[in-house]
Parts: sequence; C-alpha cells; structure tokens
Amino acid sequence: EDLSDSEFPDFSELGDIEELGSSLGNPRKEVDAQGPWKRKREADAPTPMERFHLGCLWVSDLSTQSWCEQQMVYRKERPGFPSAEKAAVLDAGASIHLARELELHDLVNIHTSTKEDAWAVKLLNVLSMVPVLQSGGTIREFPVFGEIEGVFLVGVIDELHYTSKGELELTELKTRKRAAMPLAAQKEKDRFQVSLYKCIFDAMVWGQVTSASLVHHMKLSPEMLLGPQVHSHARQGGFTVMSFGDLLELTFLSLSLSDLPVIDALKIEYSHQETGTVLGTEMVVFEEKQVRDKLRHHLGYWTGLREPRGVDVKEAWKCRMCDYAAICEWRQSGGTRTLSHEQHAKKMT
Ligand code: SF4
Repeated sequence: EDLSDSEFPDFSELGDIEELGSSLGNPRKEVDAQGPWKRKREADAPTPMERFHLGCLWVSDLSTQSWCEQQMVYRKERPGFPSAEKAAVLDAGASIHLARELELHDLVNIHTSTKEDAWAVKLLNVLSMVPVLQSGGTIREFPVFGEIEGVFLVGVIDELHYTSKGELELTELKTRKRAAMPLAAQKEKDRFQVSLYKCIFDAMVWGQVTSASLVHHMKLSPEMLLGPQVHSHARQGGFTVMSFGDLLELTFLSLSLSDLPVIDALKIEYSHQETGTVLGTEMVVFEEKQVRDKLRHHLGYWTGLREPRGVDVKEAWKCRMCDYAAICEWRQSGGTRTLSHEQHAKKMT
C-alpha cells in the first residue's frame, strides 16, 4: 500500500509470498574497486538470491528497491520490523484491494500443500481470466510471471480493461493514508512497478515465457499430481487435468492461442484510504530502455555483482521516516559505505 505521504515507501502487492532464486548463471565478481564500498567478495560467497533462498523476484521487491535498496535488504533480513501503525495501514490497504476484487468475482479458498499446487492456483487464475479479457471484459488480480533479463519475475496486476478507444489499459490502485498525491520519488517508484508489469505481461502474450522456464526457475515437478482441492477447483472450471504438467500445458497453450494484445496504456490511480476519494491519476509513458537499464542495475545487487546501496545524499529525507534508520550503517556512515553480503549475513546470525 502507498504510505509515501509520510515520506516512507509503500508496501504494494500485499500478501505476496516471496520465494525466489538465482538465474543469471554465475556473474559474481569483485565489487567495483572505484566504488565507495571497496570490499572484495569471496568468489564462493552466496549471492543475495542464494542467501535468501529465492527462485524468483517479486515486482514489489524491485519497486521497493528503487526507493531505497538498503531498506529493501533490511526488510528481507528483518521481516515484521515495520511498526504497528504501518501494519494497520497495510491491513486497511489490503482490505480495499480485496473489496475491489470481490466486485468482479468471488474468492474461493483452496488448500495447497505443495509449491506445485500454489502455482497451479495461479495458472487456474490465468486460465479463467484470459477468456474474459479476450471477450473485452475487465479482470483484476491477474498473475504475471516470466524471465526478464535472466531473472524470473513474478507479480500481480491490479486491473486490466479496454478503454473506449479499444486500448488494453493496466490500472494500478494505490491507497494513501493522507489525502494528497505522493511525492515525485514515490511516483517514480510506482511508474517503475507498472512498467515492469507491462514487460512481463507482454512477454507472456508474445509467447516469450515458456513452461520450461517456469519449471526450471521455480524448481517445479510437472509430474506431481494436483492436490484434491486444486483438482476439484480445476474440474469445476471445466479443466480436465490431473498433474501439474497437464495444467502447465493447458495454460501455455491457452496463452499462445489467445491472441491477446500487449498493454497499450499504464495508469496509476491514487485514492484516499479512509474515504475512498480518488486523489488523482497518473498516465505512465513506457520507456523500455530506461526500465530495462534500471532493472539490470537492480538485478546487479541480487546476482552478487555489487553491494547494496542506501539513498543518495539528495534523497536523505527518506531516512527520516525509515524503520531502519537507527541501525542503518549506510546512513551512519553518511552514505559512504555499506556492509558486504558476508558481513550482513554474519551480523544477522
Ligand atoms: Fe535507506 Fe535511509 Fe533507511 Fe538506510 S535509513 S535503509 S539509507 S532510507
């Protein structure tokens, strides 16, 4: 949710479970000796993706990283650290998202006990929503996933619909505690988020995302039989599938035959959490080169090419409302150094 009215970052994509992993081969090397944090990494030191046992990255993590990379790292290392007040704001934001989703369809609780089942639920959501979009309808909470720049990315698009001009438009809802539009830095973070959604969605409809890539990155077993509740849910949806592999095949076939268009327009809607009043909307110009350059820079941290960084001096105002200000070594050193991955790992154990 968007908490940035108080100059601290939002926590979008509430409820996402993060489970990721490495996929850029082995690009590890010494950190840039010209950088302010001249620390050599051990050649066999785990990358952050390995250290956090991640098979993919959530778009929400990447957008938080664009606010302050060091803060995102602290959040990974110390989950549950945000104050009770912020947690309450997050809960309220989650409720608003849920209410919007319920406007379009009912929610069904499905018990999953394996990662294949958890992914099967995502795939069933894709399978059920693709025909709605094909017939010109509106869908909400659409799962997107795919390998972009060598790393498997996962996210959930708030809403997709067609405009009066027939363009496919993505709408991202951001709820705000304060009844005012966000600062430029927050808007920039949100623009990056929706641009990443477009990169992934477009790759999906272009057939660039393959079932083999999903299986490889998420270490899934296609031969695994679906759990009873997932199987029953699939059957109710009219899908005759027994194994996870059956569902994979069906989903990717459906995507490739769907002939869905790429996303034409990106819109971010900011609304006041308490009253539901729309505070304003932003139309985002998709600049692919800038988005991919920024993504590659962010991935450099995850794949061990460089150490994490805090905010630049000109953005030091972000530190004032940061949960981790009291322990942040980047801040304490005036933004001139940070801990190496190994030191971080040691400190956290
Ligand atoms: Fe980032 Fe500042 Fe927070 Fe450190 S104190 S994590 S530099 S926002």
